[in-house]
Amino acid sequence: MTVDWAAIREEAVAHLQALLRINTTNPPGNELAAAEYLAGVLAREGYQPVVLQSAPGRGNIVARYRGQGESKPLLLLSHLDVVPAEAERWLYDPFSGVVAEGCIWGRGALDMKDAVVMQLMTMLLLKRLGLPLERDVIFAATADEEAGGLFGAGFLVDQHLDLIQAEYALTEFGGLPINLGKGRVYLCQVAEKGVCWVRMTARGSPGHASRPHQDNAVVKLSQAVARLGKTPLPFHRTAAASDMINGIGSALGGLAQLGLRLLLYPATSEWVRRHLLGDPSLAETIFAILHNTVCPTVFRAGGKTNVIPSQAEAELDGRLLPGQTVESFLAELRAIAGPDFEFQPILVSPALETSSQTHLFQCLAEVLIRNDPGAKVAPMMLIGATDAKHLANAGIPCYGFTPVQLPKEIDFVSLVHGHDERIPIEALLFGVKTLYQATVAFCGQAQPEKIARRT
Ligand SMILES: [Zn+2]
Repeated sequence: MTVDWAAIREEAVAHLQALLRINTTNPPGNELAAAEYLAGVLAREGYQPVVLQSAPGRGNIVARYRGQGESKPLLLLSHLDVVPAEAERWLYDPFSGVVAEGCIWGRGALDMKDAVVMQLMTMLLLKRLGLPLERDVIFAATADEEAGGLFGAGFLVDQHLDLIQAEYALTEFGGLPINLGKGRVYLCQVAEKGVCWVRMTARGSPGHASRPHQDNAVVKLSQAVARLGKTPLPFHRTAAASDMINGIGSALGGLAQLGLRLLLYPATSEWVRRHLLGDPSLAETIFAILHNTVCPTVFRAGGKTNVIPSQAEAELDGRLLPGQTVESFLAELRAIAGPDFEFQPILVSPALETSSQTHLFQCLAEVLIRNDPGAKVAPMMLIGATDAKHLANAGIPCYGFTPVQLPKEIDFVSLVHGHDERIPIEALLFGVKTLYQATVAFCGQAQPEKIARRT
């Protein structure tokens, strides 16, 4: 039986429209309605989906396709919640799921209800075709990713691990192409930076503001925070950054390859970044891939204009490269801020890294190139964080793989969490097809190592 991709396109569009019309803005989330919608679709096709509430209205859904072999499952993980939308700034209502200009519009169209649909359609196709697989495929669409995931992926890992335990998981954000010169390179996410939010405190002498003195906590803190905001933290070359930059370089070849390689050496990195990359947001991303970063975001001091407070506080959003620790990061902050401050970590999650030298990564790359001949694939490090951090607590390695063939005029980074979020219908179909084929390629056969052992 062959797949009627034209019919699948219509079906995928309808499911995405339906999901976009269910408002799952987090807070408060209200993902239950979306979970129940998916449960209905899956149940009609012969699945026995389980809907789990982590709190009233916070819905998560899990379903399983049974394979026949003994290999551990593949988990397809997505999130149902979305970030708020400023509706008055949008061309179309962000919760209308309208189709216009060849795109489906709505909050979540790229982050990540599109991927929910790719994963859903993969499950439906497996069932309809009755494919014999070597391993189970698990579908899990969860609540709360946009607020840290404790009511979603974190809840499943803590309380229902048996339902989602897997050898690998696929989730957001990799699988996106970057268009460089004439070439297109798909970045498959193998690593993501860790998080270390820090409360920084300065203490000083209180007093009457009519007689200023030099031990003012507000002044000391603001000067140190300004230094932290302006001074680059030290350069660190990680294996994940090298693989990413060299991978993009070898896809491009020629002088571009040489220029990119120079990013990996401290003596030349900064010059190349400033003068050769061109696009400022690309230069900032590359910086974040080669350094821990710290970004001051909250400042709290004083309560009355004529009173010098004895204490001032700032909150800093720190992001850590693989291999870094809270201690090594705080040492970098102290070297810039000076010794007079207290640094208290308030939220920590480690960086994640999965090897790209796996059978699964090979399957993802092969299917991408089959569906977009001439394109190249490179591993990537995400500078943000996803629900993969919860899976890491259960020892489930994860790739970011949401394959979307975006045209140049659709700027993923500015649309995700921005205005007018939308996905071209053809890009959605590309994603459904690629994810389905990659799932079959990986799950439909025994691991090469096992084949070798049998013969
Ligand atoms: Zn997301």
